[in-house]
Parts: sequence; C-alpha cells; structure tokens
Amino acid sequence: MKLSVLGAGNEVGRSCMLLSTAGKHVVMDAGLKVKDQDMTLTGLPRLGHDIRIDAALIGHAHLDHSGFAPEVFRRSRCPIFMTSPTQGLSDLLIKDAKKIDPELPFGRKDIDSTFSNTIGVPYDMEHSLGDIKFTFRDAGHIPGSAMIELKSDKKRIFYTSDFKSDDTRLLAGAKQPEGQFDALIIESTYSKRYHQSRKEVEQGMIRTVKETLNGGGCVLFPTFAVGRTQELAMVLAAYNIDAPVYIDGMGRTASEIIVNFPRFLKKPGELRAALDNLKEVGRDKSVVTRQPSVIIATSGMLEGGPAISYTLALDNMKKQKEIDSSIIFSGYCVEGTGGWLLKNQQVLRVKPRVEGRKTRMVPINLGVYDCPLSAHSGRHELFSFIEKMNPAKVVCVHGDDTESFAAELRENGFNAVAPKNGDSVMI
Ligand SMILES: [Zn+2]
Ligand SMILES: [Zn+2]
Repeated sequence: MKLSVLGAGNEVGRSCMLLSTAGKHVVMDAGLKVKDQDMTLTGLPRLGHDIRIDAALIGHAHLDHSGFAPEVFRRSRCPIFMTSPTQGLSDLLIKDAKKIDPELPFGRKDIDSTFSNTIGVPYDMEHSLGDIKFTFRDAGHIPGSAMIELKSDKKRIFYTSDFKSDDTRLLAGAKQPEGQFDALIIESTYSKRYHQSRKEVEQGMIRTVKETLNGGGCVLFPTFAVGRTQELAMVLAAYNIDAPVYIDGMGRTASEIIVNFPRFLKKPGELRAALDNLKEVGRDKSVVTRQPSVIIATSGMLEGGPAISYTLALDNMKKQKEIDSSIIFSGYCVEGTGGWLLKNQQVLRVKPRVEGRKTRMVPINLGVYDCPLSAHSGRHELFSFIEKMNPAKVVCVHGDDTESFAAELRENGFNAVAPKNGDSVMI
C-alpha cells in the first residue's frame, strides 16, 4: 500500500492523502489551503490531472479537508463518502468559498453535482470498495467529523483527519481505536501545546463577559460558523448570562443544519435550547449595541463577515460615549489574518467592498481577550492516542512543524515519519 501526501505535509491546510492499493486510487480528505476556516483560499493539493480517483473519503466539513472535493468529482466522477452532517455543512462552506474566491477551478454547477452524488455514511459501519474496506469513526472535532479506519492488501491503517479525544460541551470525544494497526496517519496541530482545562477557560471567559456587561458594554465573539458557534451558545446558556445574546453571519445557517442531526451530538436537547435562546439580527444591526449584549458573529479570524462591522461599531461606542466593550477570540488566528492583526497590533483591517478602493487599517481601542476552546487534541491527547494504539508506523501530518513531532516520537521508540507534500510512504 502506498500513501502519497498531496497536502497537509508539514503544513496546516489542504489535507489530501492518496492511497494506492488493491489496484485503486483513494483519497482521504480533499481540502483547500485556507487562512481562515470560513474564508480566504490560497492553495490546492498536488493531485496530478493524470490520476483517476476511484473514491474520496472526506473526514469533515472544514474547507481544509472538504473544499477540493468538487474538483475531485469534476475530474473523476467517483463516489464521495462523508457523514450526513458533513454533506450539509461542506456544501454550505464550499459555496461560500466559491463566492469569496471565484478563481477556484470548479464552478457552482460542479458543487451541486458533487453534493447530489455524495454518499452519506454513519459511524462504525464497514463499507467496501472492491477489496478495500473502510469504516468512519467519530472524531469528536466538529459535528459529523470522522476518523477513517481502512483495510486493504492485508494492512490496516487509521487516519485521524482532525480529532479531539476529550469531551466538549457539544461533542463526545473520539474513542480510542482497538487492535493492531500498520500505520497511523495523525494530525499534529497542537503537538507542542497543552490545552488549559475547558472549565478554567470557560470561567475566565464568563468573568470577562459579566464585567463588560456590568460596565454597560457589549461583548463580541468573532467565531467560526461550524462547531464553535454552537459550543459558545451552549457555554453562554450554561452560565445564565443576563443579557440578550445575538447571532449573526453563517453560524446561523450552520446551526440550523447541525440541530437536524441529533445522533451526531452529545446533548442535542441542550444545544437546541441554547440556540433557541439566541436572537437573530435583521437588517438594522444597531439594535445589538443599544443595550449591553453579547454577539456571536463570523468570521473567526476577522477576515470578513459581520464581525468586522460590529468591531467598528463597538469602537465607535468607545469613542463617542466612553463605553468599554470586549472582543473575545475562542479560536486560533493564523498569522497575518485580521484577528491576528487585532490581537498583536490593535488594528482592524477593513477590506474595500468596491474593487479599486484601498484596504483601511483602523486603530481599535477595545479590550481583546483569548479564551481558546480548541476542537483539536492537545499534546497530551496526541501522545496518549499514539501510545495506546502503538502502531507499526506513525505518519505525522497537519502541523506547522511535523518533523520535530516525528523526531520526538522516534526518541520515544516509535517508527515515525513526517512526509512533505509530494512525498510517499510505503505501508
Ligand atoms: Zn478541522
Ligand atoms: Zn484541519
């Protein structure tokens, strides 16, 4: 069995693992390189036009795992397998991506024909592609996210895509796979970072929210549409915030899709109650800032979406009425994105709506906080997962420095490699 890393080799983004086995070519994940999980696309996987793909198995809806699927389908007309929530969510995210980046090689029609041909698969049920057998396992990362177990050529391999072992409010954690594996292909996003406990992060977050509201200000959460929006709604509901909580942007549509799949959620009733508690914003966005309130708005890295205009509105409130508001990031901001600029240089980047106009950099005088609710396994979860599985080979992908992670694993006695994009590994 040959594994070729076409994307996510020593990088986060454009995940694409090509398996050549039993006379077939199968890709696990087909993603785009994105600066933000909601926005701004920059790269495609290295899938040559000469290869005909026999099937694609998509781990989850984030664009860095699903965004290239319409191109795979356009070229190869092959079956594409994913869970039902991933079908709905990736359709939403990819259509949005096409609006933002018209240069993508596939069109709206290709997206539609891809999603009318995808095959929805439940967790824990084995499927066959000729002599290849595969099973999707719950990854605990976002609703519908899956890890993939695959058997072929008398080998058994496991691909984590993105996963989280610990429970969150929204999802049960990924279960440890059982048995012997010839290879584990594992994400390495947080191979160097321990996560602070969820409870501590939540308590710090709620303290900031309450202090801001008591001072008469508003709290803005720039938030990813899928997963984080729903989890934040649950956190805010659990602490009984005494102020209106608004939702704006794509998180609303994503929430409507997610609540339709209760079997993929840890406590669907709790999520539904938390979402029912949110107020939608109409055309007049100024209603939100007329009283102390909380706003959950896309995008998570301030690369676009209504979060930009709310940041400006809150800053104006500070200038005109001396009211202090807060901005809380609950997810990672890639260097150079709008969120990163705000955190590190206290400026908001406002891109022009009309072509030809200049991008503005607006100084922002608001409290900016980091309360990370990560949906990835931290260092402790990654090591524990690998040690319990004890696979014959570990292939480290989806990280900024996969080589040092692999080196550390080798020091601990594992046969670990960190292929770059274009490299192949024999299993
Ligand atoms: Zn992901
Ligand atoms: Zn990812």
